[in-house]
Amino acid sequence: MALKLFNTLSRSVEEFVPLDPAGKRVGMYCCGPTVYDLAHIGNWRTFVFGDLVRRYLEFKGYSVQHVMNITDLDDKIIRRIRETSTPLREFTARFEGAFFDDLKTLNCRMPHQTPRATEHIPDIVSLIGKLMARGLAYQTPDGSVYFSIEKYRAGGGCYGQLVKLNFDEMRIGERVRNDEYAKEAVADFALWKARVPEDGDVSWPSPWGDGRPGWHIECSAMSMKLLGPSFDLHLGGEDLMFPHHEDEIAQSEGAGVQHHGQPFVKHWLHGAHLLVEGKKMAKSLGNFFTLRDLLAKGFTGRDVRCLLLSAHYRETFNFTLEGLQAARASLTRIDDCLRKLREIAGPARLAENPPLVDQFSAALDDDLNVSAAWAAIFDAARETNRKLAEGAMDAEAAAIALATWEKLDSVLGVGAPPEVEIPAEISALLEARQAARKARDFKRADAVRDELKAKGWVIEDTPKGARVKRL
Ligand code: AMP
Ligand code: ZN
Repeated sequence: MALKLFNTLSRSVEEFVPLDPAGKRVGMYCCGPTVYDLAHIGNWRTFVFGDLVRRYLEFKGYSVQHVMNITDLDDKIIRRIRETSTPLREFTARFEGAFFDDLKTLNCRMPHQTPRATEHIPDIVSLIGKLMARGLAYQTPDGSVYFSIEKYRAGGGCYGQLVKLNFDEMRIGERVRNDEYAKEAVADFALWKARVPEDGDVSWPSPWGDGRPGWHIECSAMSMKLLGPSFDLHLGGEDLMFPHHEDEIAQSEGAGVQHHGQPFVKHWLHGAHLLVEGKKMAKSLGNFFTLRDLLAKGFTGRDVRCLLLSAHYRETFNFTLEGLQAARASLTRIDDCLRKLREIAGPARLAENPPLVDQFSAALDDDLNVSAAWAAIFDAARETNRKLAEGAMDAEAAAIALATWEKLDSVLGVGAPPEVEIPAEISALLEARQAARKARDFKRADAVRDELKAKGWVIEDTPKGARVKRL
């Protein structure tokens, strides 16, 4: 079945058809973190969503080139390095390192390329040069360079492809220097910001004088450099639609580098926000959890990943610790079922897709309907548990069920349960209990069982013998 995805450009669900004539290669750009602080789990919702898209495309046989930029240069970063008197690279390296550690903890596949803005200044300058040459950018007396929305529109460019904008309110040539602004403040935006004293030593030479790029042009330059002037998928959280992505389209298409009227990006995907008590989880509101906050509470990366993947990406959903607890309980149900299957499974391969794989892909083909995909998995787990309880699961059926789960988990990435190391003392008690049973000393066997229980372990008698598991 064909994959269908909601495209913010057309505001409709469309069949995903890659630009590659062979239909195999897919270029995908995800706007990455601004490394001025630890990412909060709202940010992670968006990054895990990007990972889901990539994994599902790979599951469907596409060869994905996944690029995620590192915004290591923007207004917020400059403000922070000034406040903390830290050199730029030293400051950003700390948060970039933490970002990659968290990416691993959440079992996200590493993007193939993670370009840093500071390492692409020549590409950015060259792109601004193209816009200047085409008359779409202009320099102001302070040396900054702005994108002219009026000229772009006059030349046939469409500004407002992702969001509806009201141009009646707009005053021609009005400018906005900040990288972040509201829709109501639509105005010419900065491509190159002339150096000001507050920038310290963060500046680069350019044909327009010393300065630094605006945030939006960074993504246009890096995405087109690594994926070409037209590529398939561009992702980010819904707040990036305006002005970031709208500005990216204007700059990239304004440069006129696409072939035969092709768009800069074919499919735009935007993930809805993670909320806390009805409000966007955000640093500025102080209502956020970082991944590390949750790990400190005893949760694992897979618990958090499972929660973030529990709702459809276009639905906002409220973060609660109870919700996270429920995600953990769901994973435990799956883990228990898998453990029982492993105990009886023989060797087997999947000759063809079992119905569960088809149900799962039908759900995800439908604009990544994860809720339906999870529902199919939990139905199957219930049925498997029933058969296991009735002894109706043989070695081959168990092996097929396990192989099926591995296949689905290549997309979900909630991983196998960590192997619990059994302390020597506990193993010794288990052996003592077995010996007591063999000697028909049931009183002693029960006493050892109780002792194990007091230490937090229970005995399970399985077809492959007795084993212990954590309470
Ligand atoms: P930033 O590091 O601020 O550039 O944000 C990184 C990504 O997180 C962007 O794609 C944002 O759209 C996204 N984002 C920010 N806040 C939230 C949130 N509360 N829920 C989901 N995504 C978010
Ligand atoms: Zn971006």
